[in-house]
Amino acid sequence: MIEIQEIDLDEVKGISNYDKRKICVNNNSCMTCKKQSSCRYQKYMKQAKRTGYHFQICNHNYFLADVLRRKRGLSALFPDYTHAIIDEAHKLKDAANQMYGTSVRQDEINRLLRKALPKHDGSNVKRIREICNEGITYNDLFFKEVIHQIPKEIEDEDTEKYKTIITQRARVFLNRVVVNLEEILRLLPEKDRKLVADIKRNIRQMKIFNCSDIIYWLEEPFSKGQTTLASVPITLSKELGQDLWTNDIFFLLTSGTIAVDRDFNYAKNELGMKQVHKDRIIEISKGTPFNFKENCLLYVAEKMEYPDYDNPKYIASITDKEDIEMDDILKFCEQMALLNQLKNKKLITMIEYEKIKLFIKKKYKIGIYAMQH
Ligand code: SF4
Repeated sequence: MIEIQEIDLDEVKGISNYDKRKICVNNNSCMTCKKQSSCRYQKYMKQAKRTGYHFQICNHNYFLADVLRRKRGLSALFPDYTHAIIDEAHKLKDAANQMYGTSVRQDEINRLLRKALPKHDGSNVKRIREICNEGITYNDLFFKEVIHQIPKEIEDEDTEKYKTIITQRARVFLNRVVVNLEEILRLLPEKDRKLVADIKRNIRQMKIFNCSDIIYWLEEPFSKGQTTLASVPITLSKELGQDLWTNDIFFLLTSGTIAVDRDFNYAKNELGMKQVHKDRIIEISKGTPFNFKENCLLYVAEKMEYPDYDNPKYIASITDKEDIEMDDILKFCEQMALLNQLKNKKLITMIEYEKIKLFIKKKYKIGIYAMQH
C-alpha cells in the first residue's frame, strides 16, 4: 500500500465473504471521480506500472487483468516481465472464471436507463423518455423470464449459482434492451462520458448471452431487482492456454494440491496446457511432510452407499438421515475427536486408544477407515 495505513481485507469484520468477493473498482466511475488525484488506488496503480522493481506481487485476478489488457491492445498493468511465479496455481482457473467471464445485473441496467432520462426539455426528449421506459420494462421482463426458468428443486438450495435457461422469449426481451440502449447512445443530447462508457460495456456484455459457446447461470435471483446473469466461455481453458503459455515468458507454477497422485494432467487440462509441447514443461512432485497415516482417519457410516454423486442412493444415504442417526454421528465425531486428542497428547496408551475406539465404533455402528487402507 502507498500510505502507512494498510487494510487487509481478510481481517475486515462485518463484510460477508460474498460481498468481499464482489468488491471491485469500476474504471468508468474513476473517469469522473473528483478524488482521482488523492485516491490511494490510483496512486498504487501508477506505482505498479513503473519499471525498476526486481519483482512485483499481485493476486491472480490482477495478473490475469494484465494479460487480458495486453491481449486487447490496452495499456498493461505491469511493466514488461520475463518470468512469472504463480503460487497456489490450483486457484488460477477460478480466477480465470471471474476475469474471462461476463455479467449483467438487472438493477445496473435499469439505473443506466433511468440516468439517461433527459432532465430538461429539448430535441428528442420525448423519444428518449419512451425508449428508456421501454428498456426498463423489457429488462425486467427478461430477468423475470430467466428467474422463472430456475428448476423448482434448486430454488431452496443454499447456492450462489442458479441454473437457468435463456429461452427464445427471454432472448427477444434481451435484444430489445440492447436495441433500446443503442438507440439511447445515438440520441443522447449531452454526452456524459461515464454514462456512455457504462452503456457500451453493458451492451457488449449483453450481446455475449446470444452466443452459444458460453456457460451461464443466475446469481441472487431472489433479491428483488438485484439479479445477475453471469457467464464464462466454454472454451475458457483453450483461451487461457493461448493467452498464457504461447509467449516467451517463463512460468513457475506451484501448489500443494495441484497433482492427483503425482499426475498433473487434470490441472494441465484445466489451464489449457495441453497445447504446449511436452518438452517445454518440466514437472516436479514432492511428497508431503504431513503424516496422513498418523494424523487422518476417515469416518464412514456402515450403511453408507459407495460414494458416487451420480448415484441417487448415495445422495439419499448422506442427506436423508433421521434425526436420531444424525445425533449418533455427531456424538460419534465428538467422542472420536476427544479420544484423538487424548492420544495425541499421550494421555492414553495405544492399547487403551484402540480399545476405546473399538467401543465407540460398535456403539454407534460407524466404520473407521485410516488413510492407509
Ligand atoms: S478514483 Fe479512486 S475513489 Fe474515485 S472511484 Fe476510482 S477508485 Fe474510487
